[in-house]
This record gives sequence, C-alpha cells and structure tokens, in this order.
Amino acid sequence: MFSKKFQRKYALTDQGVENTKKGAFWTVIVNLVVMGGVGILYLLMSGFMETLTKGAPLPGIVPAVGLVLLFVLLSFVTHLQQYKATYGLVYNEVKTTRLSLAERLRKLPLGYFGKRDLADLTETIMGDVNRMEHVWSHVLGYLYGAYISTGVIAICLLLYDWRLAIACLWGVPAAFGLLFGSRKTAARSAQRTKKAAVRVSDGIQEALENIREIRATNQEERYLEGLNQKIDEHERVMIRGELGTGLFVNAASVIMRMGVATTILVGADLILSGSIDFMLLFLFLLVITRIYAPFDQSLALIAEMFISQVSADRMMEIYETPVAEGSGTFAPKDHDIVFEHVGFAYDEKEVLHDVSFTAKEGEVTALVGPSGSGKSTCARLAARLWDIDKGAVKVGGVDISTVDPEVLLRDYSMVFQDVVLFDDTVMENIRLGRHGATNEEVRAAAKAANCEEFIRRLPEGYDTPIGENGARLSGGERQRISIARALLKDAPIILLDEATASLDVENETKVQEALSHLLAGKTVLVIAHRMRTVEAADKIVVLAEGRVAEEGSPAELMARGGLFCRMVELQQQSAGWRLES
Ligand code: ADP
Repeated sequence: MFSKKFQRKYALTDQGVENTKKGAFWTVIVNLVVMGGVGILYLLMSGFMETLTKGAPLPGIVPAVGLVLLFVLLSFVTHLQQYKATYGLVYNEVKTTRLSLAERLRKLPLGYFGKRDLADLTETIMGDVNRMEHVWSHVLGYLYGAYISTGVIAICLLLYDWRLAIACLWGVPAAFGLLFGSRKTAARSAQRTKKAAVRVSDGIQEALENIREIRATNQEERYLEGLNQKIDEHERVMIRGELGTGLFVNAASVIMRMGVATTILVGADLILSGSIDFMLLFLFLLVITRIYAPFDQSLALIAEMFISQVSADRMMEIYETPVAEGSGTFAPKDHDIVFEHVGFAYDEKEVLHDVSFTAKEGEVTALVGPSGSGKSTCARLAARLWDIDKGAVKVGGVDISTVDPEVLLRDYSMVFQDVVLFDDTVMENIRLGRHGATNEEVRAAAKAANCEEFIRRLPEGYDTPIGENGARLSGGERQRISIARALLKDAPIILLDEATASLDVENETKVQEALSHLLAGKTVLVIAHRMRTVEAADKIVVLAEGRVAEEGSPAELMARGGLFCRMVELQQQSAGWRLES
C-alpha cells in the first residue's frame, strides 16, 4: 500500500521502488558507520582524558590504529555500495522510464495527441524525466535513509540522556516542519515556472512554423517582442521561485543548527549541576555534527523534491490516461459502419448527441454540415481515434471499442487534409501505405493516383527527397501522394476529408480521378466540401450542431427542401461551391 503510494508519488517503475529501497538501506548503513567513526573518536578521546586526568596508561597504539583502519575500510566499502545503489541503478531507471512512457504513448488513443500540446509532451519525456532522475539518484535513497538512521541514533541518544537528546534534536523536526509548510508555495511556483517555460517553447515553435507569414506581413518585430515578453516572464517566475525556496531552505538550516547552541546551554547547565560529566557533552557535540550532515544535504534536496512533484504528476498523467486496448483479431462480417446513438465529448461539453447513421460497404456516404457541426469528429470516431461516451460504433457488426486500434486501423485508409509527409524520398513516402510493398507496386499506386506526371518532373524522380513535410510539393500533389498511399494499402474502409483549400481546376480533376480509383467498392465516409462529391454520393448525412438533421440520397434531400436543400441553394448563389457555411 505504502509502496504503491510512494511509487505513484515519485513516478517510479517497480524496479525503481526496489532500487530506492536498496539506496535507502545503504544510506542507513553509511550513516551508522559514520556514527561508528564518531564513537571511535570518542573512545580515543576518553582514553586520552583518562591519561591526562587520572594518569591511566595511554591506550595501546595498535588497537587504536586497527580500529581506525577498520573504520576507513568499512566506510569505503559502504560508501561504494551506496554509490552503486543510488547513482548506478538510477541511470537504468531513466532509460526504463523513457521507454515505458514512450510505450504508453504508443497505446494511447490517437485523439490524445490532438488534445495535448506536443511541445509539452516532449518536455515530459525529456525534461521531466531528467528532473526526476536527479530526485531518484540524489534525493529519495538519501532522504529516506537519513530518516531511518537518524531515528535509530535519536533513540540511542534518548536512552543515553533524554535531556541532552532533546536539546540536540529538536531542530530537526522544526526545520522539516518549516519546509513541509512551504511545500504548497514551492509546488505552486514550480507549476508557474513550468507553464512559463512551455509558453516560451510554444512561442518559438509558433514563430518557426509561421515564419513565412510573419516575414510576408512584416510582423517580425511584433513577434519578437511577444517572445521577449514570454522569456522575461519565465525568468521572473523562475527567480521568484528560486528565491522563495532558497529562503525556506536556509531558514530551515539555521533552525536546525540552533540545536548546537541549545545542546551547549543545556549541557553546561547539567555539568554545573553535576548530573553529567564533560565527556558526555563532548560525545553529544560530536554526534550532533554528524546528525545534521545528511539533513543538510537533504534540506536543499527536499525543496527539489517538492518542485519535482510537478514533473512526477505530469508523468503520472500519461501513465494514468486510459490506453485504447482491445482484441487482437478483427473479423467483421462486412464493412458497413454503423453509428448507434453515439454521444461524444472531447472535454466536458458534448459535441455529438444521439448520432445514428449507416455508411454502407460499396457506397459513398457524405457528411455534410456547417463548420463545427461534428463532421470531422464523426470521421475520427469511425476509426476509434477517440473512444465514444454513449452508444456504439460498429463495423460489420463488431463494436470497434472492443478491437485493438492497431489491428482495427489495418482496415482503414485515411486521406485527410493535413497529409503528413516525411523528409524522405517520394518512393518511401508512398511506401508508408504498406510496409514491404515492392517498387513496382509503389509505382502502380502512384500511377493510379495520378502522381506519375509530377514525379517525373522532379529532379530524381521517385528518389527525390521531398523536404520536411513535403515542402517541395503543392497541395494537390501532396494529396495525391496520400491517395497513392491509400491505394497501396487497399483497405476496405476509406475515410476522406476533401481539401478545403481550393485546388486549381487541373489539379482538382486529377485528384478526383485518383479518388475514383481508390473508392471503388469500398466503404467510403467523406467529409464533403464540394458539390461534385455531394452530388455523386450515394447517401448524405447532414449534421447540424452535433445531431443528424437529415439523411438520404441527394435527390431525396433536394426534394424534401430542408436544410440540405437550403445549403445547396445558398452555395450555388455564391461563387464557390463549398458547402461549409
Ligand atoms: P466539423 O468537422 O463539422 O467542422 P468538428 O467535428 O471539427 O466539426 O467539431 C465539432 C465540435 O467539436 C466543434 O465545436 C469543435 O470546436 C469541437 N472540437 C473539435 N475538435 C476538438 C478537439 N480536439 N478538442 C476539443 N474540441 C474539439
């Protein structure tokens, strides 16, 4: 139980918990050995004192040197073990954690990545894990080890002389109390710093992404000024946060050290009243310096631990987001997509309400409706990019929420507007459609997708690198590449989001031709923006504010004279043929 809580709190793996226990164990041993050193010093000193005051013979040199050597040896061995158990093991923990976070991300519903800022996710995998690494290696084992060893020593001291023990130890709980009291403030300022840091990286990313627009519209100065402000703000909250923790840590350290003064005062008083002798006070003073040492180190570390809580929480958020899992086999009887009373919310607000419709195999079903009515959401849900909240989405009678997304997606091709192209050759970019496809197959798909003529114009044909995200290609060309990918994959279900950006007539005809090859005989769900697609569709589902307003064939809907008919008429009056309002 404690172990689970501990693991969650510090975002540790199972192995990490074990390693921390080892680290704490060796820290206890090291601290006790060091205390043993204090004991040896005390023994030697009392021997000398006996000689000085009572004329007793000097302690034998051989046993004294033997004791010291034994101490040095023990100290070396235990420190080495502690080092291995804290630093050594932690480096593996960092690797395991990054891998397990990445593995977790792989299994999360794809929709999660639309919701989370990607700069933020990268910051978690790299930055947060780094920060935690320090806590894992420098803090946890040491701190928990110090708690235990100090507990043991405190009990011994209390048994020896409780008055001196209290005078010497009261500072420790007081200092910790102060630090724990400041915990909320530290966590809050860490949160603020983190947010400010993410704003800075977002700002930089945004500027880089939009550099063309910024230059074209002469907005460099305004942009830089905005960025400057974000950086200044980051610096300000960071300094304020550091100052706050610094103050608390130093105050705690001073309070702890006040124990030395009280020990001397109480000790002197006890000596004067004759209840203890000087050597006992001397022993306590020796012990006290060693008791503070592990805490001195950990006070600063505790502050770091509080701050790292933000990092641990961010990592745990990834671990605790439900993964999309399901059966490893998917054997639908056909590929009809059926929405049954589907309700869905991205966050709290429901965006689809009681949506029911069927997209039949071999037909083109067009989703039509004003912007924001839920067309893209329906397309995403049809492929289980998100899990729905109410109702069911079925393909060939199988509820897709029971199928592992990786397996499910083998039956889908998605041709969306934001085609992702990789900085690789044209050939490899198309081959992404089906891993292991031969060059001939890739060429055939490219030809059917009307890519051939523009690929031939490229300097190295199929072997031309196309630059980051296809910077060297036009919108229509990129879309044709993504159609070629889908052709190569030859999946039975096609989700298609038509380009909203107007393509020139030639490009548009080519894209349409390519699509006609792709769509034949498949279950096609298309987010339609063009008249041509809508007219050619077998079925139209009109969405309005997340509900199905009308459905039927284009002719039926025109005859009914409802929302669809009005939208078509409106669009026909305006120059474009786009259906979105
Ligand atoms: P359409 O494709 O018809 O334009 P969408 O399906 O994109 O409509 O959006 C439907 C509603 O869902 C809108 O109100 C939109 O603001 C909201 N929405 C879309 N995507 C997200 C998202 N990733 N997170 C939160 N809300 C979203």
